[in-house]
Amino acid sequence: MSQFTTSWPEIRQLMSQIRPIKYGHTRNFVDGAVTRLSPYISRGVLSTRQVFHYVRDQGHEYSRVEKLIQELAWRDYWQLCWNHYGSAIDDDLRHAQSPIVHQHTPRALVEGSTGVVAVDRSIHKLYETGYMHNHLRMYVASIACNFAHSHWRAPAKWMYYHLFDGDWASNALSWQWVAGTNSHKKYVANQDNINKYCYTDQRGTFLDRPYDQLILEKIPKVLQSTGELSLHTPLPQSKNPELDAKLPTALYSHYNLDPLWRQDDNMNRILLLEPQHFKQYPISEKVLNFILNLAKNIEGMQIVVGSFATVKTMLPDTEIYYKEHPFSRHWSGQMDPRDWMFSECGVHRSFFSFWKACQREVKLIWSQRKDTPSLFPLR
Ligand SMILES: Cc1cc2nc3c(=O)[nH]c(=O)nc-3n(C[C@H](O)[C@H](O)[C@H](O)COP(=O)(O)OP(=O)(O)OC[C@H]3O[C@@H](n4cnc5c(N)ncnc54)[C@H](O)[C@@H]3O)c2cc1C
Repeated sequence: MSQFTTSWPEIRQLMSQIRPIKYGHTRNFVDGAVTRLSPYISRGVLSTRQVFHYVRDQGHEYSRVEKLIQELAWRDYWQLCWNHYGSAIDDDLRHAQSPIVHQHTPRALVEGSTGVVAVDRSIHKLYETGYMHNHLRMYVASIACNFAHSHWRAPAKWMYYHLFDGDWASNALSWQWVAGTNSHKKYVANQDNINKYCYTDQRGTFLDRPYDQLILEKIPKVLQSTGELSLHTPLPQSKNPELDAKLPTALYSHYNLDPLWRQDDNMNRILLLEPQHFKQYPISEKVLNFILNLAKNIEGMQIVVGSFATVKTMLPDTEIYYKEHPFSRHWSGQMDPRDWMFSECGVHRSFFSFWKACQREVKLIWSQRKDTPSLFPLR
């Protein structure tokens, strides 16, 4: 059963469950105080900026909640990289991954049968709930890339397919970070670390070695079997939408389902699902249903399965409005900006250089708490 509500009033209330101080010292633990807001942030229902301002307005001392603000900034950083590099993030960004022996996903990961209890459990949970804890994502990616020597792209697409929060920038670039194609180091999982953060007490697995011996290992037997996965998005049947040719049109995507966007305007509202896109970046039926249910929060929303050209043919003379997103670059009309956390929107070679550039603004926004109305009142 899914643990993620799709009701807008309930989603708004999730903000009040954020525990930003506890987050800082527990987020790496499997039961840590993580927010689980990513399915809503990825789908554009909530923005990083709204969460940032909400946390600020709670009156915390900045230094005690900085970790959460920094993690939110990671999301924006990957999005800015995506804006800058475009589809180049689909390939090794800075260095070729090495060594690789195939372009597939190890069967043991797909089946959740690696023998590493915490990892296997998290894979079954991903299938059940559409969510995986960040640390587990890192372990899974490390097992695929650095132990099974899979090229990162195929297993990344498998994980993306099942995640409610599937966000191609956070996904592809995090996989690349683990595989060492986007930085100089690889991320190497180790059983002691897993035992500590997942409360297991396992010994004798292929990860149960000191760090300096792990990376030299030949592919463990349990990871040798691989297979090509058939990942397919079961898009709904397209019905003829009822549109008013005299009205402007708001065009939504599975990355923008913001119920507050232009909510007071009298418009046609269309969620466009482009088959060509989903062929390249497939999502599971569960993820699709999550998206379709989120779309119900927007009054008058109609679904169109087709290309942008299909919409233009249906509405040749109306103004089309949409929100900026790398996957919507081929759309045309009136493009609204996204809600970034900071005005620093340039590309930086590393997250920490980006973070440094944002520091003045972070402190300024924090200091203005008493003078600015809440960006996101819960009622
Ligand atoms: C291999 C791998 C694949 C990933 N794939 C995705 C993906 O497809 N979609 C996705 O949204 N995130 C992805 N992440 C990033 C991260 O794991 C999730 O954003 C996070 O686990 C979401 O859970 P949460 O909302 O409870 O996060 P919290 O820890 O509560 O963090 C709060 C918010 O900060 C942002 N955030 C936190 N950590 C990261 C991070 N490492 N990178 C970017 N933003 C972050 C998210 O918006 C998140 O909702 C991936 C990470 C790895 C290592």
